Amino acid sequence: MRVIAVTTIFLGVIAVSFVVFFSGGIGLAELINMNAKKSANPCGKLVLDTETGLCMEQSVWDLFNNVIHPNLQTCADCSNLPVPVISLNNGTQTSTFAVYLSGRKLLDWVTPGLTADSIVQSDSGNVLPPGSTSAQILRVTGTNSIRYLIPSEGQYFQNRYEVLSPQKTTEVHYDIVKKTGVYGSAYFFVQAAQPHVDMDAVTRSFDAIALSESRLANLSKPDPYYVLAMPYLIGGVFGGEGDFYVGNHILEANFGGEKYSDMFPTVLTQEASHEYVHDLQDKMNLEASYTASFWVEGMADAVSIFSGFRTWNDVGFGTVLEPGCSDENGNASEPHSLGRCVFKHLDQEHYLTADFFRRLFHPQGQYPGLNSCTSDFSDPTCISDLTKLLTFLTGKDMRTFVQTALLKAPPTIDPSKCKLGAECLPQSQIEPCFTPPKKCSPAKTSVKCGTNNGETYLCQECKKGSFLDSSHHHCE
Ligand SMILES: [Zn+2]
Repeated sequence: MRVIAVTTIFLGVIAVSFVVFFSGGIGLAELINMNAKKSANPCGKLVLDTETGLCMEQSVWDLFNNVIHPNLQTCADCSNLPVPVISLNNGTQTSTFAVYLSGRKLLDWVTPGLTADSIVQSDSGNVLPPGSTSAQILRVTGTNSIRYLIPSEGQYFQNRYEVLSPQKTTEVHYDIVKKTGVYGSAYFFVQAAQPHVDMDAVTRSFDAIALSESRLANLSKPDPYYVLAMPYLIGGVFGGEGDFYVGNHILEANFGGEKYSDMFPTVLTQEASHEYVHDLQDKMNLEASYTASFWVEGMADAVSIFSGFRTWNDVGFGTVLEPGCSDENGNASEPHSLGRCVFKHLDQEHYLTADFFRRLFHPQGQYPGLNSCTSDFSDPTCISDLTKLLTFLTGKDMRTFVQTALLKAPPTIDPSKCKLGAECLPQSQIEPCFTPPKKCSPAKTSVKCGTNNGETYLCQECKKGSFLDSSHHHCE
């Protein structure tokens, strides 16, 4: 038997409908009996959240009541709320923008990005961050509305469809709609009148993520998910970009504004496919083996990409990466970028296989040295543990890969300080740092380059007659 509960709230009028599918063998008397029990506890095994009227899983109920509701404060009939004034393009005609959640005034939210020049004219109620003067996206606390001064009617928001009109109030009404999937459930914070997000299709994609990624982790059944999908206007209240793994199977995903979610309809799927890996890492207790954020984040992207829910291009690493994970390949000192760089190199050298991921989710031993890794991979502890881990994951000797793919320039490690064994890199592989020509993959030409250290080789294509420059990164 499967029970699907769809609960929708419209402007304070609560409509609850239960659609129950029965699979054979249940008589009418039993049906009536079950319905009688349901009326005693309308949520069955779930917990009623009185503020939204939704039946929630216990951990979701806990999050709503300990974090979501206390942060997203609302009030139904509060009057005389402060209203900050912000002028757009030196306009003088007033136009008010007001935000509601579940039919109540929302007192904590994030202003939409603007397409116009803006100046904060007044904030006597101190509802904007102290010292706010202009157009940044601002967190508002203590009121549900802003008075904009505009020169003429128009769309002033980057990712929203609302049109500001002189002397008018633009109200944005959000509701929380729950959709139940096969392996979990999703709570969508969507506009009551026009949700924009195809909630059923997105929930099916969450099921697909749970199925594929759990399978890649070699789990016997998909781990449950609970997704909170919010516009940035609301999700931004919880910090960062609004995408998190909260714990207890709960993910937060941010679909931007409605215009953004229309432009990028897979945005929620992409974000959830990354955050759900953090759920699996949690479930598999992987922090016992690795805690370095670059590795944990790179793994999250690699799993979601290998499972087909996003691409390297989506995460900003679309082209074939040259050797090295330094800042020139993106902001690699940032953990997500550094991790993506490592896994992108593994992918382009064809190391990412189902076997690789099975081992990745079932590591042996500990790799604390990963915590010492930076974008130049110059730390011997980092190199040792990274090489050891990659060798375990691929089943191949990865010393050459680490040297040729991840290091930008010959490392400064003194091999005599290495311990003996697999952790130690032979002098011959440290000094030239680049792969000898015979190791080049067939698709690539080995290029001879002249350097101060004599002749070294790099598996990279240059036009005939050209050479790699002294940093080995560009053909000249
Ligand atoms: Zn992450």
